[in-house]
Amino acid sequence: MDHGLRRPHVVDLADRRALVRWRPADPDVLAEAERLKDAALLDFGLTDSAVASWLYAKCHHQIATTAIETAAVVSSGDGSCLLIYNPDFFVGIGLGGVKFVLFHEARHLVHRHLFADAELRADPVFTVAAEVAINHVVMVRLKRAELPLLRGERVGIDPRTVHADYVADVARQGLTALDYAEFVRTDLGVYAELKRMRNPPVPTPVCLHLFDGAVPVDQETIDAVSSSVLLNSLLGARRGHTGAESELLDLMDRTDGSSERASRIWGSLGAGALRGRTARTGKVDWWQRWLVDVLASKLRAGERLVYPKKRGAVLAALGLDPLLSRSGPERDKVLVIAYDTSGSMPYRVIEWLTELVGEIDRVQAHWLSFDAVVMPFKPGERVLGGGGTSFQAVVDYVEGRTVVAGQRFEEKPDAVVVLTDGCAPHVTPAEPDKWIWLITEGGDDWPDAHTPQMDCHRVRVPERTSTR
Ligand SMILES: [Zn+2]
Repeated sequence: MDHGLRRPHVVDLADRRALVRWRPADPDVLAEAERLKDAALLDFGLTDSAVASWLYAKCHHQIATTAIETAAVVSSGDGSCLLIYNPDFFVGIGLGGVKFVLFHEARHLVHRHLFADAELRADPVFTVAAEVAINHVVMVRLKRAELPLLRGERVGIDPRTVHADYVADVARQGLTALDYAEFVRTDLGVYAELKRMRNPPVPTPVCLHLFDGAVPVDQETIDAVSSSVLLNSLLGARRGHTGAESELLDLMDRTDGSSERASRIWGSLGAGALRGRTARTGKVDWWQRWLVDVLASKLRAGERLVYPKKRGAVLAALGLDPLLSRSGPERDKVLVIAYDTSGSMPYRVIEWLTELVGEIDRVQAHWLSFDAVVMPFKPGERVLGGGGTSFQAVVDYVEGRTVVAGQRFEEKPDAVVVLTDGCAPHVTPAEPDKWIWLITEGGDDWPDAHTPQMDCHRVRVPERTSTR
């Protein structure tokens, strides 16, 4: 947060073992810092911030280290993010301070996702503007009148102090300044106003990770993690999470329309639906966005995300730029798609799934149709359905217990997608976290309420656009 030192780091900030080894803090301090961190994240999840909650859920490693002085979210070089924090710092600022800092850091990542323009980022005034906008938002959302205090000193840039300096500077030029509320209304508005100053503020002290090169952050990882976080928050809002909804509406009001990139990101997320508007992209539906995100997390290769191999229409529509495919020595991932033929199943969904799977790098797909029995098929083949449905038949086959057409399924799947109306006796697979249920309209989405709960989403069948 208030860390403005530009010295080289004592250890590689992406090296988790080195971070842990570096001059470990006192065990009591470590335990207390971890407790504060967990308590803060729990509050985010319950009430304070859906965005921050999702972001830290995506930081698979959260490491206390004295190798940095404050806290930062960095990319760990494998496509995922890492939270690193100084335990003495966390204990020093207490729970209120920890929540402030973690919310601040989460917001930074989203901010950097929305405003990635190199020209903006090269301007030190933009750095101060980001701190002002972010701290203002954190104070409002966490209902805080003050910045966190560390040994009696304020941590970070106080938006009100910056505003007072701005008012004085602009007045000296004989110009009219905005009042505080107008000044902080949007993220880029703060920047525009600071640019009117004859002597704009210099960015010290500021956040550790805002100096390019100070901590490992790559735009590719920021974009992948942030879009997933925004998507999940939007899905939460659509399911009736009012905290997520107000947070996103506020974030949109502060950023949408302010830059071409930010507008494109919001548009491609279909976030306009939250405001009661029609999404600008009519082609991609919520369940499709959801499935891409769930698959991305299940098909992680070790700690490496599996990225799309080329810019596919579907993924581009999701606002994801083509990402590097990270090939490694790992085996291909195994994906099973099981398609219930007992009811009236939408063939266009299968077509879309086929296209999607074709875009994912290093994945071996197995297609099954099933009613009371399982029948493997290849995409494009006509699949005929019979009567009765048995999910257990799919589970038994996928788990290698049954022989179909003289063959046993020998692979160990990383993900199993079941497309069904859900109407059949419920099942509990051996590895429920690998199962993804897509429930057709009017169907029964029992896997959502099952114990253990499984990933489940309703499918809306796209309208027919051609009559071949
Ligand atoms: Zn910052």
